[in-house]
Amino acid sequence: MSLPTLFPGATLGVMGGGQLGRMFVHAAQRMGYFTAVLDPDAASPAGLVSHHHIQTGYLDPEGLARLAECSAAVTTEFENVPAPALAALALQRPVAPGAEAVAIAQDRAREKAHFVRCGVPCAPYAVIETPEQLAAVPDELLPGILKTARLGYDGKGQQRVATRAELAAAWAGLKGVPCVLEKRLPLAAECSVIVARGWDGAMVHFPPQLNLHRDGILAVTQVHEGNLPKVLVQRSIDATKSIANGLQYVGVLCVEFFVLEDGSLVVNEMAPRPHNSGHYTQDACDVSQFELQVRALAGLPLTPPRQHSPAIMLNLLGDLWFASTAQDAATEPPWARVLALPGTHLHLYGKHEARRGRKMGHLNITGASAAQVRATALEAAQLLG
Ligand code: ADP
Ligand code: MG
Repeated sequence: MSLPTLFPGATLGVMGGGQLGRMFVHAAQRMGYFTAVLDPDAASPAGLVSHHHIQTGYLDPEGLARLAECSAAVTTEFENVPAPALAALALQRPVAPGAEAVAIAQDRAREKAHFVRCGVPCAPYAVIETPEQLAAVPDELLPGILKTARLGYDGKGQQRVATRAELAAAWAGLKGVPCVLEKRLPLAAECSVIVARGWDGAMVHFPPQLNLHRDGILAVTQVHEGNLPKVLVQRSIDATKSIANGLQYVGVLCVEFFVLEDGSLVVNEMAPRPHNSGHYTQDACDVSQFELQVRALAGLPLTPPRQHSPAIMLNLLGDLWFASTAQDAATEPPWARVLALPGTHLHLYGKHEARRGRKMGHLNITGASAAQVRATALEAAQLLG
């Protein structure tokens, strides 16, 4: 599908008001667009900075009608926006990514089936929706990780299981909701690739990001020449492109991969939106993942991004506001000392309350060489405790 270009001055709508929506809004406004955010939370990070903030539930017909009325096109910023809401909006306005792609990404079982269809290997798995399927799980999938098919994020909704008894107990503990059991794989590393695909099918990509997770949450992203073996760079980009093409995807898509100890590449999951692992693009690339989302939605040209600096991104979780585990009142981290380090770029999301495990912001670090960026990142991490 090809659509008329929406030029600056038009209003772009966003379903969801989290930090990804906020950074989309910033990118859109910088280019001269107006923005409208639909999110029930009066203090949502994107709602706070948008020209229009519609404070209703995602399925509220009146809220959706108002969003469609004031927006020339609509995007989404988190994958758990109900797909039927996107389908309803699409009757009136261009919506990207589309309801079908989002619905597939929302459901681990459908997501994995899509990967298989695209010929991209994923971890051996079984879908568990019934006691019969539980009983039929092959032994080779153990030890494994039981994941709820829907609504999991940042390691939530997951349980490691070693035996059939543990598996049965874990599934019962999850109240028998639809799940996927994945074989636990020996990971050497994790990486992700972000692409942007236009209404006309044209696609550009960022270089693969090397990601470090802590307690199931992304902690550090590193992007520099040689962060991954060349063969994996090409393989992960090719796999991401076939996954995006297979969905007829429009917008920014992130695909996460495991690198196994034997050097092979296995797809993990996808996010139908800009992704935490792409935040470094704001300061290290000539076009950010958020600007590409704006361009894709508006039908503007998608130029191939060029990374002009090696980069490390450190996620800033609410824990940093509680320097010791005993402390119960939040105190501000030492920003002045962190920002005294050359090449540090602070991004905070305007969340009023710091909570442990909550994503409050990120720090992008750029510099002349990968070694210099790494040294600065170590200093920053020490200051932040
Ligand atoms: P989420 O949606 O919460 O990000 P993921 O499926 O990406 O869930 O899992 C979170 C993390 O758990 C991964 O980044 C990885 O470190 C680990 N993990 C997930 N699945 C597997 C697996 N099959 N084998 C080994 N580690 C895994
Ligand atoms: Mg993940």
